[in-house]
Amino acid sequence: MVLAEDQGGKGRAVAPLSRGGGRGGGRGDGGEGSAILPPVGTPSRIGRWLRKGRRKLIHRNQVDFVYSQRYQLELPGATYDSRRGERILTFLDSTGLLGRRAVHRPEPATFRHLRRVHTDEYLDSLNQPGALTTVVGYQLAEEFADRILETQRVMVGGTLLATRLALGSRCIAINLGGGLHHAFASRGERFCVFNDVAVAIAELRETGFQGKILVIDLDLHDGDGTRSLFAGDATVHTFSIHNQTNGADDAVEATIVEIAGSVQDEAYLEAVRERLPPVLERFQPELVFYLAGSDPAADDQIGNWKISAAGMLERDRFVVSCVRGRVRGRERRLPIPLAIVLAGGYGMNAWRYNARFFSALLNRGRPLEPPTTEEITLVRFRQLAREIAPHELTGEATEGDWGLTADDILPGIAAQRPRRLLGYYSLQGMELTLERSGILDRIRSFGFPHPTLEFDLDNPAGDTVRLYGDEPKTELLIEGRVRIDRATVPDAALLRLEWLLMQNPRATFTPQRPRLPGQKYPGLGLLPDVMALLIVACDRLQLDGLLFVPGHYHIASHGRKYLRFADPADEAFLRALEKALHGLPLSEATHAVEQNRVVDVRTGRSVSWRSMPMVVPVTERLQERITGEEYERKVAEAEMELTLT
Ligand SMILES: [Zn+2]
Repeated sequence: MVLAEDQGGKGRAVAPLSRGGGRGGGRGDGGEGSAILPPVGTPSRIGRWLRKGRRKLIHRNQVDFVYSQRYQLELPGATYDSRRGERILTFLDSTGLLGRRAVHRPEPATFRHLRRVHTDEYLDSLNQPGALTTVVGYQLAEEFADRILETQRVMVGGTLLATRLALGSRCIAINLGGGLHHAFASRGERFCVFNDVAVAIAELRETGFQGKILVIDLDLHDGDGTRSLFAGDATVHTFSIHNQTNGADDAVEATIVEIAGSVQDEAYLEAVRERLPPVLERFQPELVFYLAGSDPAADDQIGNWKISAAGMLERDRFVVSCVRGRVRGRERRLPIPLAIVLAGGYGMNAWRYNARFFSALLNRGRPLEPPTTEEITLVRFRQLAREIAPHELTGEATEGDWGLTADDILPGIAAQRPRRLLGYYSLQGMELTLERSGILDRIRSFGFPHPTLEFDLDNPAGDTVRLYGDEPKTELLIEGRVRIDRATVPDAALLRLEWLLMQNPRATFTPQRPRLPGQKYPGLGLLPDVMALLIVACDRLQLDGLLFVPGHYHIASHGRKYLRFADPADEAFLRALEKALHGLPLSEATHAVEQNRVVDVRTGRSVSWRSMPMVVPVTERLQERITGEEYERKVAEAEMELTLT
């Protein structure tokens, strides 16, 4: 599908820093540097697959993925993880399961595509200021409105492409976005502007596909927009199991199952197992869409159901087995092409449900357990780091430059040449790193269109990096001071983080995010990213790890996701603190420590916060020293008991 319109990313607010310099060509779509985004696959193998015969297709499911970095829409205050698709691909790539040509890049849907489903009045109205207020539910800056439209058009293009791939291979194609099921013909609701599945179906009808189509919508929410769009169409069955029915229920071909309350695995899986197979048997679809929403999961940030990870996986595998092979133990004559879209899923864990499911599809039914979001962030940053050559970071001449430096030509200039952070990163190199890692995009999404970086290398206590939200440098967002420390931990060279300030001066504290000691403003939510950047810096500088001395209990407690105490006695102290403060909200717990309300049971004396170095091991030799039996033995020796007064 070649879409002449909109190539080159209409309205992409961010000019990649690397444009015109460096080798990467920016982090635009599938930029050549990106290992996980290979070029669009060729259709030639479709023929090969078809020739391989039907029996084999049942057992060897080809799985294609559709993804664009333009899906990564950062919106202020959104609970949606804009990097969900990227994390899924990073994980699948790291397992080695992802074929070289398995990922395809979509183009935005054209106006022609959209108007097959949506009314002209509605599409025209989207150009009016404030048009998206009713769709997203709050007032939005115009730049974000443009980006929502852009993102959703690309996602619709993704579902169009996935549909073609699924039909072409008669296998499975997955759009790592889409599922915008609350979009109606003449209005959008709950963040859905364009109904991607409906647009894909309309396109199929236009090109002559007459087969019956089943839409299985297992997002937590009612697929009301899709049902409404096909209410009078007997060739499209919409199947939705959800927490609350919103739309009309008079469609000619629809299954509507509402389950109220805080639903758990048993009731949910029973509903899927009872209701789906009869529909497939009776309706006999020739194409199936599956909205594999992960918002029914227990830890979803907005969902009210309590489905376990095992329950979610069981659901997904059941759907695939119904569609692709077996119905009640009998093998279907031919598996039905299946196009999967992500749909809902909120919070930083949403990607893991899809990742688990897709790994099972790629790994002959055996799922692989995805790492934590922090770990996958580091995996991704290390991938990105491999795509940046050292000279791009240091600004040093490469061999091809005749070996001449400024000193050779104009000796006077050498003295004025800017020094580098940690003796390594040039200012531009650091900007490149922040841009490629997506951190600057996220900063822009918080409402700071011109983030500005500054180095301060004159302080003997360490090199300082500051990131401001604006060019005049009035709004400080990130300040970090680093130096190389060879003394604190014997026989280890560490990157010492003297301090790290991350704040959003335009955000306000809320009851959910109360002020913590040492905070003037709420944080940025970028800790996993910044930690990953620092670890990658250790890789670059061949340091054993990262060193940090937390000034408050809440920072140490947060930091434990990444860091371990260098001294086993400190580890014992923190474990005892955590035990004594168990059940308290973090802000209260940290206040309790500051106010010396924690008492050593043996001595009866109150304990106070102390300087305790924490490390993230990067080399194996440091890793060995702060984990393992010997370390644990020393922690046990230092065990203490604390209590809260
Ligand atoms: Zn939902």
